[in-house]
Amino acid sequence: MIDLETKELGVATQSAAMHSPVMVLLVDDQAMVGEAVRRALLNQPGIDFHYCSDPAKAITVAEQIRPTVILQDLVMPGIDGLALVRRYRANSATSEIPIVVLSTKEDPAVKGDAFAAGANDYLVKLPSQIELVARVRYHSKSYTNQLQRDEAYRALRESQQQLTEKNIELERLTQLDGLTEICNRRHFNEHIQLEWSRSLRDQSPLSVLMIDIDDFKQYNDTYGHLGGDEALKQVASTLQLNANRSTDLVARYGGEEFALIMTTTPLSGASFMAEKLRVAVRDLQLTHGDSTVAWHLTVSIGGASTIPQRGGSSLQLIEAADNALYEAKRSGKNREVMHEYRR
Ligand code: GH3
Ligand code: MG
Ligand code: MG
Repeated sequence: MIDLETKELGVATQSAAMHSPVMVLLVDDQAMVGEAVRRALLNQPGIDFHYCSDPAKAITVAEQIRPTVILQDLVMPGIDGLALVRRYRANSATSEIPIVVLSTKEDPAVKGDAFAAGANDYLVKLPSQIELVARVRYHSKSYTNQLQRDEAYRALRESQQQLTEKNIELERLTQLDGLTEICNRRHFNEHIQLEWSRSLRDQSPLSVLMIDIDDFKQYNDTYGHLGGDEALKQVASTLQLNANRSTDLVARYGGEEFALIMTTTPLSGASFMAEKLRVAVRDLQLTHGDSTVAWHLTVSIGGASTIPQRGGSSLQLIEAADNALYEAKRSGKNREVMHEYRR
Protein backbone atom coordinates (compact mmCIF):
# COMPACT_ATOMS: atom_id res chain seq x y z
CA MET A 1 0.00 0.00 0.00
CA ILE A 2 1.14 3.52 -0.73
CA ASP A 3 1.06 5.63 2.39
CA LEU A 4 0.03 9.28 2.41
CA GLU A 5 2.65 12.00 2.88
CA THR A 6 0.89 14.78 4.77
CA LYS A 7 3.90 16.92 5.73
CA GLU A 8 3.96 18.85 2.44
CA LEU A 9 0.36 19.83 2.96
CA GLY A 10 1.22 21.43 6.32
CA VAL A 11 4.05 23.48 4.81
CA ALA A 12 1.83 24.75 2.00
CA THR A 13 -0.82 25.84 4.49
CA GLN A 14 1.71 27.72 6.63
CA SER A 15 3.11 29.72 3.74
CA ALA A 16 -0.38 30.64 2.54
CA ALA A 17 -1.18 31.98 6.01
CA MET A 18 1.89 34.22 6.02
CA HIS A 19 0.86 35.87 2.77
CA SER A 20 -2.86 36.24 3.29
CA PRO A 21 -3.72 39.90 3.87
CA VAL A 22 -6.68 41.29 5.72
CA MET A 23 -9.39 42.63 3.42
CA VAL A 24 -11.97 44.84 5.13
CA LEU A 25 -15.26 45.72 3.48
CA LEU A 26 -17.18 48.55 5.12
CA VAL A 27 -20.83 48.93 4.14
CA ASP A 28 -22.19 52.23 5.46
CA ASP A 29 -24.23 54.96 3.75
CA GLN A 30 -22.43 57.77 5.60
CA ALA A 31 -19.33 58.93 3.77
CA MET A 32 -18.03 60.40 7.02
CA VAL A 33 -17.93 56.96 8.66
CA GLY A 34 -16.25 55.60 5.53
CA GLU A 35 -13.58 58.24 5.74
CA ALA A 36 -13.00 57.74 9.49
CA VAL A 37 -12.59 53.96 9.14
CA ARG A 38 -10.35 54.39 6.09
CA ARG A 39 -8.08 56.67 8.12
CA ALA A 40 -8.05 54.34 11.11
CA LEU A 41 -6.90 51.44 8.93
CA LEU A 42 -4.50 53.49 6.83
CA ASN A 43 -0.85 52.48 7.23
CA GLN A 44 -1.82 49.31 9.06
CA PRO A 45 0.46 46.64 7.60
CA GLY A 46 -1.33 43.87 5.73
CA ILE A 47 -4.77 45.52 5.86
CA ASP A 48 -6.61 46.43 2.67
CA PHE A 49 -9.74 48.51 2.89
CA HIS A 50 -12.74 48.76 0.61
CA TYR A 51 -15.67 51.08 1.19
CA CYS A 52 -19.18 50.53 -0.18
CA SER A 53 -21.68 53.37 0.44
CA ASP A 54 -24.56 51.76 -1.46
CA PRO A 55 -26.12 48.90 0.56
CA ALA A 56 -27.94 47.63 -2.57
CA LYS A 57 -24.55 46.76 -4.04
CA ALA A 58 -23.06 45.23 -0.87
CA ILE A 59 -23.51 41.56 -1.80
CA THR A 60 -22.14 42.02 -5.32
CA VAL A 61 -19.13 43.97 -4.02
CA ALA A 62 -18.50 41.33 -1.35
CA GLU A 63 -18.59 38.58 -3.98
CA GLN A 64 -16.05 40.48 -6.05
CA ILE A 65 -13.50 41.61 -3.48
CA ARG A 66 -13.85 38.58 -1.16
CA PRO A 67 -13.31 40.40 2.17
CA THR A 68 -11.92 38.59 5.20
CA VAL A 69 -14.22 40.69 7.40
CA ILE A 70 -17.30 42.85 6.77
CA LEU A 71 -18.08 45.97 8.82
CA GLN A 72 -21.82 46.44 8.49
CA ASP A 73 -23.85 49.52 9.35
CA LEU A 74 -27.33 48.85 10.75
CA VAL A 75 -29.37 51.87 9.77
CA MET A 76 -29.32 52.68 6.06
CA PRO A 77 -31.83 54.11 3.61
CA GLY A 78 -33.92 51.57 1.72
CA ILE A 79 -32.58 48.48 3.46
CA ASP A 80 -32.31 47.22 7.02
CA GLY A 81 -28.74 46.29 8.02
CA LEU A 82 -29.91 43.10 9.72
CA ALA A 83 -31.71 41.97 6.56
CA LEU A 84 -28.41 42.46 4.76
CA VAL A 85 -26.61 40.36 7.39
CA ARG A 86 -29.10 37.56 6.74
CA ARG A 87 -28.48 37.86 3.02
CA TYR A 88 -24.71 37.51 3.45
CA ARG A 89 -25.40 34.37 5.43
CA ALA A 90 -27.73 32.93 2.82
CA ASN A 91 -25.25 33.54 0.00
CA SER A 92 -22.73 30.73 -0.46
CA ALA A 93 -19.90 33.14 -1.42
CA THR A 94 -20.33 35.23 1.74
CA SER A 95 -21.97 32.85 4.23
CA GLU A 96 -18.80 32.27 6.29
CA ILE A 97 -17.31 35.76 6.21
CA PRO A 98 -17.15 37.31 9.71
CA ILE A 99 -19.51 40.26 10.10
CA VAL A 100 -18.96 43.04 12.62
CA VAL A 101 -22.09 45.13 13.06
CA LEU A 102 -21.51 48.87 13.49
CA SER A 103 -24.29 50.41 15.53
CA THR A 104 -24.90 53.87 16.89
CA LYS A 105 -26.10 52.62 20.22
CA GLU A 106 -25.15 50.24 22.96
CA ASP A 107 -28.58 48.56 23.16
CA PRO A 108 -28.89 44.93 24.38
CA ALA A 109 -32.05 44.35 22.27
CA VAL A 110 -30.36 45.56 19.07
CA LYS A 111 -27.28 43.53 19.98
CA GLY A 112 -29.39 40.42 20.46
CA ASP A 113 -31.07 40.95 17.08
CA ALA A 114 -27.69 41.42 15.38
CA PHE A 115 -26.26 38.17 16.76
CA ALA A 116 -29.49 36.32 15.98
CA ALA A 117 -29.26 37.51 12.37
CA GLY A 118 -25.77 36.00 12.12
CA ALA A 119 -23.37 38.79 13.11
CA ASN A 120 -20.10 37.73 14.77
CA ASP A 121 -19.39 40.92 16.63
CA TYR A 122 -20.89 44.28 17.57
CA LEU A 123 -19.14 47.64 17.78
CA VAL A 124 -20.54 51.02 18.70
CA LYS A 125 -19.62 53.77 16.23
CA LEU A 126 -16.99 54.99 16.11
CA PRO A 127 -14.70 52.57 17.95
CA SER A 128 -11.17 53.54 18.84
CA GLN A 129 -8.50 52.78 16.29
CA ILE A 130 -6.88 50.19 18.58
CA GLU A 131 -10.13 48.31 19.12
CA LEU A 132 -11.12 48.45 15.44
CA VAL A 133 -7.76 47.15 14.21
CA ALA A 134 -7.67 44.42 16.87
CA ARG A 135 -11.16 43.13 16.01
CA VAL A 136 -10.55 43.33 12.28
CA ARG A 137 -7.33 41.34 12.64
CA TYR A 138 -8.86 38.80 15.00
CA HIS A 139 -11.89 38.01 12.81
CA SER A 140 -9.85 37.97 9.59
CA LYS A 141 -7.35 35.61 11.11
CA SER A 142 -9.95 33.12 12.28
CA TYR A 143 -11.66 33.31 8.87
CA THR A 144 -8.49 32.69 6.84
CA ASN A 145 -7.50 29.90 9.22
CA GLN A 146 -10.88 28.32 8.58
CA LEU A 147 -10.47 28.67 4.81
CA GLN A 148 -7.03 27.06 4.98
CA ARG A 149 -8.34 24.21 7.11
CA ASP A 150 -11.17 23.63 4.63
CA GLU A 151 -8.71 23.71 1.74
CA ALA A 152 -6.33 21.31 3.52
CA TYR A 153 -9.18 18.88 4.22
CA ARG A 154 -10.34 19.13 0.63
CA ALA A 155 -6.83 18.41 -0.66
CA LEU A 156 -6.51 15.57 1.83
CA ARG A 157 -9.80 14.01 0.72
CA GLU A 158 -8.76 14.39 -2.90
CA SER A 159 -5.40 12.70 -2.41
CA GLN A 160 -7.01 9.97 -0.34
CA GLN A 161 -9.42 9.38 -3.19
CA GLN A 162 -6.54 9.23 -5.68
CA LEU A 163 -4.69 6.90 -3.36
CA THR A 164 -7.66 4.55 -3.15
CA GLU A 165 -7.94 4.51 -6.93
CA LYS A 166 -4.20 3.85 -7.31
CA ASN A 167 -4.33 1.01 -4.81
CA ILE A 168 -7.26 -0.61 -6.61
CA GLU A 169 -5.36 -0.32 -9.90
CA LEU A 170 -2.20 -1.65 -8.24
CA GLU A 171 -4.07 -4.62 -6.85
CA ARG A 172 -5.56 -5.31 -10.27
CA LEU A 173 -2.11 -5.15 -11.86
CA THR A 174 -0.54 -7.53 -9.32
CA GLN A 175 -3.18 -10.08 -10.32
CA LEU A 176 -2.42 -9.89 -14.03
CA ASP A 177 0.19 -11.43 -16.30
CA GLY A 178 2.20 -8.69 -18.01
CA LEU A 179 2.28 -10.25 -21.48
CA THR A 180 -1.19 -11.71 -21.93
CA GLU A 181 -3.12 -9.52 -19.44
CA ILE A 182 -5.04 -12.50 -18.12
CA CYS A 183 -4.69 -13.57 -14.46
CA ASN A 184 -1.24 -14.62 -13.34
CA ARG A 185 -0.20 -17.70 -11.42
CA ARG A 186 -0.20 -15.96 -8.07
CA HIS A 187 -3.84 -15.00 -8.50
CA PHE A 188 -4.66 -18.48 -9.77
CA ASN A 189 -3.16 -19.98 -6.60
CA GLU A 190 -5.13 -17.67 -4.31
CA HIS A 191 -8.32 -18.23 -6.24
CA ILE A 192 -8.15 -22.02 -6.32
CA GLN A 193 -7.58 -22.19 -2.56
CA LEU A 194 -10.65 -20.06 -1.93
CA GLU A 195 -12.73 -22.08 -4.36
CA TRP A 196 -11.51 -25.33 -2.85
CA SER A 197 -12.75 -24.23 0.58
CA ARG A 198 -16.04 -23.01 -0.80
CA SER A 199 -16.66 -26.22 -2.79
CA LEU A 200 -15.73 -28.27 0.27
CA ARG A 201 -18.34 -26.41 2.31
CA ASP A 202 -21.01 -26.66 -0.38
CA GLN A 203 -19.97 -30.16 -1.50
CA SER A 204 -20.11 -28.93 -5.08
CA PRO A 205 -17.88 -30.12 -7.93
CA LEU A 206 -14.69 -28.23 -8.73
CA SER A 207 -12.74 -28.74 -11.97
CA VAL A 208 -9.35 -27.64 -13.25
CA LEU A 209 -7.89 -27.73 -16.75
CA MET A 210 -4.17 -27.43 -17.52
CA ILE A 211 -3.67 -26.29 -21.11
CA ASP A 212 -0.24 -26.53 -22.72
CA ILE A 213 0.76 -25.46 -26.24
CA ASP A 214 2.20 -28.29 -28.30
CA ASP A 215 5.74 -28.04 -29.67
CA PHE A 216 6.03 -24.45 -28.63
CA LYS A 217 9.79 -24.61 -28.41
CA GLN A 218 9.88 -25.28 -32.15
CA TYR A 219 7.37 -22.48 -32.72
CA ASN A 220 9.76 -20.04 -31.02
CA ASP A 221 12.70 -21.44 -32.94
CA THR A 222 10.86 -20.99 -36.25
CA TYR A 223 9.02 -17.69 -35.72
CA GLY A 224 11.24 -16.00 -33.15
CA HIS A 225 10.51 -15.04 -29.58
CA LEU A 226 8.32 -12.10 -30.60
CA GLY A 227 6.29 -14.37 -32.85
CA GLY A 228 5.98 -16.72 -29.87
CA ASP A 229 4.79 -13.89 -27.63
CA GLU A 230 2.16 -12.90 -30.17
CA ALA A 231 0.88 -16.49 -30.34
CA LEU A 232 0.72 -16.64 -26.52
CA LYS A 233 -1.41 -13.49 -26.47
CA GLN A 234 -3.79 -14.88 -29.06
CA VAL A 235 -4.15 -18.21 -27.27
CA ALA A 236 -4.72 -16.40 -23.95
CA SER A 237 -7.49 -14.19 -25.28
CA THR A 238 -9.13 -17.12 -27.05
CA LEU A 239 -9.20 -19.10 -23.80
CA GLN A 240 -10.52 -16.06 -21.95
CA LEU A 241 -13.22 -15.50 -24.54
CA ASN A 242 -14.41 -19.10 -24.46
CA ALA A 243 -14.35 -19.61 -20.70
CA ASN A 244 -16.80 -16.82 -20.11
CA ARG A 245 -18.87 -17.84 -17.10
CA SER A 246 -18.48 -15.47 -14.18
CA THR A 247 -17.29 -18.44 -12.13
CA ASP A 248 -14.53 -19.36 -14.64
CA LEU A 249 -11.00 -18.15 -14.06
CA VAL A 250 -8.37 -18.39 -16.81
CA ALA A 251 -4.74 -17.84 -15.85
CA ARG A 252 -1.29 -18.03 -17.36
CA TYR A 253 0.24 -20.77 -15.26
CA GLY A 254 3.74 -20.80 -16.77
CA GLY A 255 5.58 -20.02 -20.02
CA GLU A 256 3.22 -21.63 -22.57
CA GLU A 257 0.92 -23.25 -20.07
CA PHE A 258 -2.51 -21.97 -19.06
CA ALA A 259 -5.02 -23.08 -16.46
CA LEU A 260 -8.76 -22.82 -16.03
CA ILE A 261 -10.65 -23.13 -12.74
CA MET A 262 -14.35 -23.95 -13.02
CA THR A 263 -16.52 -23.96 -9.93
CA THR A 264 -19.78 -25.96 -9.65
CA THR A 265 -18.66 -27.89 -12.73
CA PRO A 266 -18.49 -31.71 -12.77
CA LEU A 267 -16.24 -33.87 -14.98
CA SER A 268 -18.74 -33.89 -17.87
CA GLY A 269 -18.86 -30.09 -17.99
CA ALA A 270 -15.08 -29.87 -17.71
CA SER A 271 -14.68 -32.34 -20.63
CA PHE A 272 -17.04 -30.25 -22.70
CA MET A 273 -15.02 -27.11 -21.93
CA ALA A 274 -11.70 -28.84 -22.68
CA GLU A 275 -12.93 -29.85 -26.12
CA LYS A 276 -14.36 -26.39 -26.74
CA LEU A 277 -11.05 -24.71 -25.86
CA ARG A 278 -8.93 -27.14 -27.86
CA VAL A 279 -11.09 -26.53 -30.95
CA ALA A 280 -11.08 -22.76 -30.40
CA VAL A 281 -7.25 -22.66 -30.40
CA ARG A 282 -7.14 -24.94 -33.42
CA ASP A 283 -9.55 -22.64 -35.24
CA LEU A 284 -7.16 -19.72 -34.76
CA GLN A 285 -5.17 -21.47 -37.53
CA LEU A 286 -1.83 -20.05 -36.43
CA THR A 287 0.61 -21.67 -38.86
CA HIS A 288 3.15 -23.91 -37.15
CA GLY A 289 5.42 -25.38 -39.84
CA ASP A 290 7.54 -27.37 -37.39
CA SER A 291 4.77 -28.92 -35.34
CA THR A 292 4.88 -32.70 -34.97
CA VAL A 293 1.08 -32.66 -34.69
CA ALA A 294 -0.56 -30.44 -37.29
CA TRP A 295 0.19 -27.58 -39.68
CA HIS A 296 -1.16 -25.11 -37.14
CA LEU A 297 -0.75 -24.37 -33.44
CA THR A 298 -2.48 -26.88 -31.13
CA VAL A 299 -2.86 -27.44 -27.39
CA SER A 300 -3.02 -30.48 -25.17
CA ILE A 301 -5.32 -30.34 -22.17
CA GLY A 302 -5.35 -32.30 -18.94
CA GLY A 303 -8.31 -31.96 -16.63
CA ALA A 304 -9.33 -33.11 -13.18
CA SER A 305 -12.61 -32.82 -11.36
CA THR A 306 -13.65 -33.53 -7.79
CA ILE A 307 -16.08 -32.85 -4.99
CA PRO A 308 -13.55 -31.72 -2.38
CA GLN A 309 -13.14 -33.84 0.74
CA ARG A 310 -11.35 -33.13 4.00
CA GLY A 311 -7.73 -34.18 3.81
CA GLY A 312 -7.55 -33.39 0.08
CA SER A 313 -6.19 -30.13 -1.31
CA SER A 314 -6.26 -27.89 -4.36
CA LEU A 315 -2.61 -28.83 -4.93
CA GLN A 316 -3.56 -32.45 -5.34
CA LEU A 317 -6.30 -31.47 -7.76
CA ILE A 318 -3.77 -29.53 -9.86
CA GLU A 319 -1.40 -32.48 -9.71
CA ALA A 320 -4.15 -34.76 -11.03
CA ALA A 321 -4.79 -32.36 -13.92
CA ASP A 322 -1.03 -32.23 -14.59
CA ASN A 323 -0.90 -36.03 -14.77
CA ALA A 324 -3.78 -36.01 -17.24
CA LEU A 325 -1.91 -33.40 -19.32
CA TYR A 326 1.17 -35.61 -19.32
CA GLU A 327 -0.96 -38.46 -20.64
CA ALA A 328 -2.41 -36.25 -23.37
CA LYS A 329 1.13 -35.32 -24.46
CA ARG A 330 2.37 -38.90 -24.37
CA SER A 331 -0.53 -40.25 -26.35
CA GLY A 332 0.02 -37.86 -29.26
CA LYS A 333 -0.82 -34.22 -28.18
CA ASN A 334 -3.66 -32.05 -29.60
CA ARG A 335 -6.18 -33.79 -27.34
CA GLU A 336 -7.68 -33.72 -23.88
CA VAL A 337 -7.51 -36.31 -21.10
CA MET A 338 -9.78 -35.98 -18.09
CA HIS A 339 -9.48 -37.56 -14.66
CA GLU A 340 -11.95 -37.81 -11.84
CA TYR A 341 -9.86 -37.03 -8.78
CA ARG A 342 -10.73 -38.86 -5.55
CA ARG A 343 -8.72 -38.63 -2.44
P1 GH3 B 1 5.31 -29.90 -25.58
O1 GH3 B 1 4.54 -30.10 -26.83
O2 GH3 B 1 5.73 -31.22 -25.00
O3 GH3 B 1 4.63 -29.04 -24.63
O4 GH3 B 1 6.66 -29.18 -26.03
P2 GH3 B 1 6.98 -27.65 -25.92
O5 GH3 B 1 8.07 -27.34 -26.86
O6 GH3 B 1 5.76 -26.86 -26.04
O7 GH3 B 1 7.43 -27.51 -24.40
P3 GH3 B 1 8.78 -27.12 -23.76
O8 GH3 B 1 8.50 -27.07 -22.30
O9 GH3 B 1 9.89 -27.99 -24.24
O10 GH3 B 1 9.08 -25.68 -24.28
C1 GH3 B 1 8.27 -24.61 -23.96
C2 GH3 B 1 8.73 -23.41 -24.73
O11 GH3 B 1 7.92 -22.28 -24.47
C3 GH3 B 1 10.13 -23.03 -24.37
C4 GH3 B 1 10.12 -21.54 -24.32
O12 GH3 B 1 11.01 -20.99 -25.26
C5 GH3 B 1 8.71 -21.16 -24.68
N1 GH3 B 1 8.24 -20.07 -23.85
C6 GH3 B 1 7.99 -20.09 -22.53
N2 GH3 B 1 7.58 -18.85 -22.12
C7 GH3 B 1 7.57 -18.05 -23.22
C8 GH3 B 1 7.27 -16.68 -23.44
O13 GH3 B 1 6.87 -15.93 -22.53
N3 GH3 B 1 7.37 -16.19 -24.70
C9 GH3 B 1 7.78 -16.99 -25.70
N4 GH3 B 1 7.87 -16.48 -26.91
N5 GH3 B 1 8.09 -18.27 -25.52
C10 GH3 B 1 7.99 -18.80 -24.31
MG1 MG C 1 4.28 -27.08 -24.54
MG1 MG D 1 5.45 -26.70 -21.16
